[in-house]
Amino acid sequence: MELKNPMELEGIYHTLGVSSPVYAYGEAVLESLRPRFGAMDRVAEYNQGKVLAAMQKNRVNAAHFAATTGYGYDDEGRDNLERVYADVFHTQAALVRPQITCGTHALAVALSANLLPGDELLSPVGAPYDTLEEVIGIRESRCSLKEYGVTYAQADLTPDGSFDYAAIQSAINSRTKLITIQRSKGYATRPTFSVAQIGELIDFCKGVKPDVKVMVDNCYGEFVETLEPSDVGADLVVGSLIKNPGGGLAPIGGYICGTRACVERCAYRLSAPGLGQEVGANLGLMPAFYQGLFLAPTVVAGALKGAVFAANVYEKLGFPCVPGAAEDRHDIIQAVTLGSREAMVAFCKGIQAAAPVDSYVTPEPWAMPGYDSEVIMAAGAFVQGSSIELSADGPIRPPYAVYFQGGLTWYHAKLGILMSLQKLVDAGLAKLPA
Ligand SMILES: *Cc1c(COP(=O)(O)O)cnc(C)c1O
Repeated sequence: MELKNPMELEGIYHTLGVSSPVYAYGEAVLESLRPRFGAMDRVAEYNQGKVLAAMQKNRVNAAHFAATTGYGYDDEGRDNLERVYADVFHTQAALVRPQITCGTHALAVALSANLLPGDELLSPVGAPYDTLEEVIGIRESRCSLKEYGVTYAQADLTPDGSFDYAAIQSAINSRTKLITIQRSKGYATRPTFSVAQIGELIDFCKGVKPDVKVMVDNCYGEFVETLEPSDVGADLVVGSLIKNPGGGLAPIGGYICGTRACVERCAYRLSAPGLGQEVGANLGLMPAFYQGLFLAPTVVAGALKGAVFAANVYEKLGFPCVPGAAEDRHDIIQAVTLGSREAMVAFCKGIQAAAPVDSYVTPEPWAMPGYDSEVIMAAGAFVQGSSIELSADGPIRPPYAVYFQGGLTWYHAKLGILMSLQKLVDAGLAKLPA
């Protein structure tokens, strides 16, 4: 059914706080994006089929949604979910648990399970995500890998953001046991890697040292493409369930998919040697984990559309965006350089005002522990800290960039971006084209 008149749709945006000029500008930007959105829908459609096929093959049924407590022995729902994940990621095994508290925890488990004293870890893609610095011991930290006698080597990217194969080759040595590749740029300025690029890098590393293991930090990358790093040779892929694969429904958790040998070690590290995957009650979270995975392909497509829309809305107004408005996407993060503290605050106020939860609160910069400058964050999420839900944050320092991600639906992401622009326009910090 058609809306009775186009004003009906604009009318609901007015109710939500978006003015006619901002709405009209957004619609004009959107018009040019239809073909790209079509391509994203086709990736989501493929990935929906991939998830469905895995669920059908493993005969998911109501018994798998039952809660278990205590030790969680013979937890068929949990064990079957791990088979489903293994089939989605085309791996031999998977560990998918609420006992994995976050992405950093999943990565720490995977690293410490597969590196022993005397081994070396190599990052061939420059510095890893902030929180991993303490896991590895790049920043001095208790219980780091470094404290346990695991050394760390790093090959930086070339200035144009590509792999420095010569440096990587010379960094690989007899002690190099595990190679860690971060797919998403996170808060760095380098580009995010495509799965094809990751595949080339894995081929190269295994060409230099055939028995080396490769782990990919897959955070924010799941379901953005039809392939995952495990399809191109990664021994382990690791991520958080309050990002892409939880589909917004998982309230906690992490996953590790990979070869049976590597994943089993992770299970022994997560619980205890000898216990491994046999223990770990699901605490009633199976419906959210299964249904979240089922929804994840479309949720990720919505978040991707939001990222592309944001880049196109802001780049045309003169704000530099990474990735650029026309660039292909390999994760759901969008950086927008706003150029001033005031503009960052206005942007975040708009994202907050568009939220389903806590829409009435006003985000303010604050001195967050562990950061050397003030940080501003906007999030009105059903799950605390969930960044598959619409959220924005950034350190208040030059170049005054906000990192924007998520949106459980494309329509919510769209509203968030229009509201951010509305706040900038209202404050005189952005000017719509005449
Ligand atoms: C989010 C993220 C992590 C850490 O995940 P947390 O759940 O925040 O601990 C690690 N690596 C990358 C690339 C991320 O985006």
